[in-house]
Amino acid sequence: MAARKQEKGTAKAAASASATPVMLQHAAAKAAHPDCIVFFRLGDFYEMFGDDAGLCASELGLTLTSRNKGKPDEIPMAGVPHHAAHGYIARLLARGHKVAICEQLADPATVRGIVPRDVVRVITPGTWTDADQVGERENSWLCSVVVPQKVADGIGLALLDLTTAELLVAQLADSSELMAEVSRAAPRELLLEVEDEDTRSTEVELLRAALGEVARGVPVRSVPSRGVPSGDEAGVDLSESESEDLAGLPRDGTPRWARRAAARALAYARACYKEREFPVWRLGQLRASAVLGIDRSAASHLELVSSSSDDPSACLLSVIDHTCSPAGARLLRRRLLAPLVDVAAIRRRQDQVQALLEAGSIRRELRDHLAEVGDLERVVVRVSLGEANPRDLGILRRGLLAAERIALALGTLDAASRDVLALPPSSELSADLAEHLSRALVERPQAQPKDTPTFLSTYDAELTRLSELRNSGSERMVALESDLRQRTGIASLRVRFTRVFGWYVEVSRSQQGKVPTAWRRKQTVAGGERFTLPELDDLAAEILGAEEQYRVREQELLGALLLEVASRAQHIHHLAAWLAGIDVALSLAHVATELGYVRPVVDDSDELVIQDGRHPLVERRAGLGRFVPNDVTLSVREQHLWIISGPNMAGKSTFLRQVALIVILAQMGAYVPAAAAHVGIVDRVLSRVGASDNLAGGESTFMVEMRETAAILRGATSRSLVILDEVGRGTSTYDGLSIAWAVAEHLDQVVRCRTLFATHYHELTELPQSSATAANMCVSAREHEGAVVFLHRVVPGAASRSYGIEVARLAGLSELVLSRARSLLATFEGRAPARGLASAGQSLQLDLFSPSAPDPASTELRTILSELDVDRLTGIEALQLLARMKGLLRG
Ligand code: ADP
Ligand code: MG
Repeated sequence: MAARKQEKGTAKAAASASATPVMLQHAAAKAAHPDCIVFFRLGDFYEMFGDDAGLCASELGLTLTSRNKGKPDEIPMAGVPHHAAHGYIARLLARGHKVAICEQLADPATVRGIVPRDVVRVITPGTWTDADQVGERENSWLCSVVVPQKVADGIGLALLDLTTAELLVAQLADSSELMAEVSRAAPRELLLEVEDEDTRSTEVELLRAALGEVARGVPVRSVPSRGVPSGDEAGVDLSESESEDLAGLPRDGTPRWARRAAARALAYARACYKEREFPVWRLGQLRASAVLGIDRSAASHLELVSSSSDDPSACLLSVIDHTCSPAGARLLRRRLLAPLVDVAAIRRRQDQVQALLEAGSIRRELRDHLAEVGDLERVVVRVSLGEANPRDLGILRRGLLAAERIALALGTLDAASRDVLALPPSSELSADLAEHLSRALVERPQAQPKDTPTFLSTYDAELTRLSELRNSGSERMVALESDLRQRTGIASLRVRFTRVFGWYVEVSRSQQGKVPTAWRRKQTVAGGERFTLPELDDLAAEILGAEEQYRVREQELLGALLLEVASRAQHIHHLAAWLAGIDVALSLAHVATELGYVRPVVDDSDELVIQDGRHPLVERRAGLGRFVPNDVTLSVREQHLWIISGPNMAGKSTFLRQVALIVILAQMGAYVPAAAAHVGIVDRVLSRVGASDNLAGGESTFMVEMRETAAILRGATSRSLVILDEVGRGTSTYDGLSIAWAVAEHLDQVVRCRTLFATHYHELTELPQSSATAANMCVSAREHEGAVVFLHRVVPGAASRSYGIEVARLAGLSELVLSRARSLLATFEGRAPARGLASAGQSLQLDLFSPSAPDPASTELRTILSELDVDRLTGIEALQLLARMKGLLRG
């Protein structure tokens, strides 16, 4: 608040002290946008004044100067060239600032007196549509959250992407659902409205902190809970939509808080656009029950779209993303983060991949065409926003032509495939618009044409006439030149043109004497003198006039063409969405052939059967064919809990993750890295990775671990897939073991969901003895020439108890230490409470290393050690004992 007051104060000070008309304009702009840095257009610069100037000087490293220096109304000033402004604005936004653009509303050349100026646009991270600043392969969401007085009513969420004209809304049950959606969307900016803020400040602070953490580095702006436009006032009917990706919109309206959040987002964006209309062509309601829930820790631990390792591209998305267009890339990312649970919808996507797989040879051709599509979706939105330039029209033309070729190529497929791929009828391809654009535009229209034309002169009769005029003018100039040479007898005389001086006659110094006195001297240069004469001036005016008219005509034509495109924009938007879907299916088909993925059977059963499954990322790292594939067979009714043991580095975590990744891929409609797979729909993938395996997160406290475990137990249903990797590490052995046991038992007996539980607690391998639905598995290793060789094979049975010690032996720990370790192990086992938990039956232990006959020395050492009471041993005694043991070893 203090900052705001101060800014207002400054604006007032500027108004009174610098009462020039221009500074009054600035003061008005600042007063209307006290929370923004005002970029005030003065000629070719944007200038910042007062506190804004100081702020920009420090944030952007600009030189701080001042206006009206030395006078009483002196004010700090800093500026940036207008053509370079976007880079500076991007940096200010990245630091959480908002920028108000105050433009000159008329051409200074045509205005008498002061140029009118006003704020035309407020730029914020979530509402910026600049093509060069918005990441191509991700959506750019503005997120709005409304927390009602009674949170139990549901939290309202809206996601608005102005660059793609999309609005998604949701009403979420609790803050964890909210966090999941927000982290999935990774918004650029967050609006938070809290009803009744005063009475619930701690809760709100917690929520705000959580949001800040989920959307790291993103500004969270509080919206006062007053004067809220109602959902209807927002001018959007939320009951209509047709996109399959929006998980089915309800026809009977949208919940209240979701509507309010949408209204908030729209109102905020409209204010940024100074109430100008912007399109919303795709509306959707997000429903948690329509997608496979992937909790936040699972998404990061499974490295779906980002990686915690040194290589940020080491994520699943990077393996499967072979899309050729930005819209395709965005769609693929969204599908990966929100797989479906509806079998029919999943199969439709699989069918598309399959149709393209079977299309064989045309895939290459399709990919080439798709690469030509460009960002059709965003270009057409820019046209509607009035932000398109001639280069955008060029992109549009290329995209539409490519769309036609794609439809043509797909049209050669059999009827079933064409059906599956939902080929648009040719009338919907906007072929006539593409033809129109081809007829109109030059080869490469420029974003900001100065001297280069945008249109072919053959496009328009007026353009043709003007260009002929211009050309004939040039010809007449050539004729005039030779005429002047003849008249004056100066053979070296030249008629030339420069931007600065216009047309002139140049005569070398030695020929000066022959110049008629009626010519006017214009300029002296090294080689001679430059003159002008009435004949030349008239002709020059004619040529320049033609050029000026040409430019004006081009502007008119551009306006008309943009209008025509705008009238079809929504239609092109649909086409773009279809192309994105084709791109995604093609990418997945490409991955399937290149990496040997198969189509999984997806149904409503409760099975999870994977034959020779692989981990997409570890496989890529290992190299094709070097990865050891593994099976999994879980079924809710029969066996649904696997306790997986094995030494460090055996491959437990890899196995767990690959199973989850295969489920996610299957439900997003992709093929999977396996020989065969059968996935009964999973409603949630929940995972928890023990502290030691999650060091990158930097939060290895027991509290965090338990909070996440609790969330898993709360969130899991019998349809969930739970992945627990070394849970219980964050605390003392017995606490950890007891918790791990209780959690496993609960999942097995109460939740009864498909669960993979990797553990280093050997005691846990006794759990299956008392449960028919749990089984022990272990990741095998063997000894080879004194070294451990990890086979990475998941086989039935529990890993040997002495596994760790055996590995330590192979690692070169001395026999003395090892035997001490063995005896300690025996002691601990004697005390282990876990013993009592399991039935005393035959345990399924699988000895990894065939027991070798113990040598006498070690037997004796073992005896010594096992009888030893370490707590009572003095230093001297210990040394003596050590000497004795050493003697024993020497024999
Ligand atoms: P654990 O969790 O048992 O300690 P990890 O799953 O982290 O073991 O695996 C350790 C390393 O072993 C992996 O980084 C990978 O290089 C390799 N690895 C794991 N599983 C396989 C496999 N199935 N085939 C090939 N290499 C594997
Ligand atoms: Mg591990």
